[in-house]
Amino acid sequence: MDDLKLKISHLSDGVHEFNLIVSPSVCGLKEHEYFHEPIYVNIYLQKFQQNFVIDVNLITQVQLVCDRCLTKFNFPINTRERLTFSYDKELAGTDDEIKVLDSKAYYVDLSEDVRDFLLLALPSKMLCSENCAGICAGCGADLNVETCRCEKKTIDHRWDALQVLLENK
Ligand SMILES: [Zn+2]
Ligand SMILES: [Zn+2]
Repeated sequence: MDDLKLKISHLSDGVHEFNLIVSPSVCGLKEHEYFHEPIYVNIYLQKFQQNFVIDVNLITQVQLVCDRCLTKFNFPINTRERLTFSYDKELAGTDDEIKVLDSKAYYVDLSEDVRDFLLLALPSKMLCSENCAGICAGCGADLNVETCRCEKKTIDHRWDALQVLLENK
């Protein structure tokens, strides 16, 4: 699939299911640093007269950078969102959630919504693991795999100060 335009004009009332695989570029995420993998789009569409309720399930994997230790890690996304469209302008006016369709529209373009849903599904805190120890601000050691190199120095300096005190007695 090279777009996310869903033809709806010919659909009969009832349930229609679509399974698509798209690249991040299709939903405007081509240049986005996190999205590299194909996006599995499962669409469960219910049509009733002029109205369309579309449940979109998105599955992919993003590559994030840990806020604490700056290592890249994979993060699975599996998110489900609902969209509602209607040719009926009056009905759409009663609910902000309902998007109005132009009477001549024969498809809905889901690409922008899919992009928004994927961005919403990103974690607010990007951590390679809950217990990530991060990087030492002093010596730059990745504390997940190595021990801090500046800790010893600090102790040495304290010891020096103590020595001075003892010597001055
Ligand atoms: Zn980390
Ligand atoms: Zn350190």
